[in-house]
Amino acid sequence: MQYAKLLTKDASEELERLYEKIQSKTATVLGYPVAMDFDYSELFRFLQYPINNIGDPFIDSTYAIGTREMEREVLNFFADLFRAEKNEWWGYITNGGSEGNMYGLYLARELFPKAMVYYSESTHYSVQKNLHLLDMPNIAIRTQKNGEIDYDDLHDTIRMNRNMPVVVFANIGTTMTEARDDVKKIKDIFKDLAIHHNYIHADAALSGAYIPFIHPKPAFDFADGVDSIAVSGHKFIGSPIPSGIVLAKKSHRDRIANSVAYIGTSDTTISGSRNGITPLFLWYAIKRYGIEGFKNRTEKCLQVANYAVEQLNKIGLQAWRNDNAITVIFSEIKKELIVKWQLASANGNSHLICMPGITEERIDLLIKDIVQTQV
Ligand SMILES: *Cc1c(COP(=O)(O)O)cnc(C)c1O
Repeated sequence: MQYAKLLTKDASEELERLYEKIQSKTATVLGYPVAMDFDYSELFRFLQYPINNIGDPFIDSTYAIGTREMEREVLNFFADLFRAEKNEWWGYITNGGSEGNMYGLYLARELFPKAMVYYSESTHYSVQKNLHLLDMPNIAIRTQKNGEIDYDDLHDTIRMNRNMPVVVFANIGTTMTEARDDVKKIKDIFKDLAIHHNYIHADAALSGAYIPFIHPKPAFDFADGVDSIAVSGHKFIGSPIPSGIVLAKKSHRDRIANSVAYIGTSDTTISGSRNGITPLFLWYAIKRYGIEGFKNRTEKCLQVANYAVEQLNKIGLQAWRNDNAITVIFSEIKKELIVKWQLASANGNSHLICMPGITEERIDLLIKDIVQTQV
């Protein structure tokens, strides 16, 4: 670093304090969905280079310092996992689940500019903003007690707007209760009402990286009938930098493709410059875990979630989880513990998420804290 000087003592100490804070806060996170079992130290040397995957991952740019080949491998992995038709899909690595969700809605709008968007009350907070940015008319649908969309309300509401194309924003694992909307049931509603112009986007931000390994497999992927899927990369897979994967049917993407001479590739993504490090992290995780590793991590998370429900119930708290979910919902506990364990809370309930890296020991520490504050 020419022209740069060493950090002053004050600045070094500030950095040290930050490091310690991050270290200690990571040891007590339970409420937010981030895997903590990753180690990308083998990739540190790549941080010396101005890596940028600008533009379309499938069309090389004249800017050649990038990780497109890895990005494509990651996308291929997820296309297989989500049963996309061979050579009929497209996608890219995003900055997170929200961007992927926005992208899915954007494709839907280009396909059906006059559509109405339906989404359940349990939908992630970012979606309202995305709909606003995209200026798409939308209606919220009631949810069942477990957080899943109310299919009767969806049916009735679509029927009342039958003249409009339908876009359903389906939740494949809601933020608060990890409820999954059933794509097959949504398709049945389209059939029943003879809705031919329809689009389903799957928000699988939280669950997309593990529900393919759950039995019975929930209906959420391309073979089940969705048009696009978004997943977060920093949640179940784990990454020090937020990231995500979005996949869509190729024909949808072709409608918005626009070749740009300056970058020598196609401007098919939302941002211009794109992160080239996160595709490398995801690639590395896929290579190290493989399908078998992902399955084992999923099993372990389900085991810990089961354990958490048992232990919380044992000390007299109402705790439950959806079928095969790693999110555990329980009646609210003392504020200081919500802060300490970084528990997401709403409507008198808190939840904890048994992400990879969360162990029975960490659940035990929480239980011990709860018992101590109750007496
Ligand atoms: C996390 C999450 C999002 C947002 O994803 P980011 O990666 O944080 O942008 C959207 N929907 C659901 C269900 C989520 O869990």
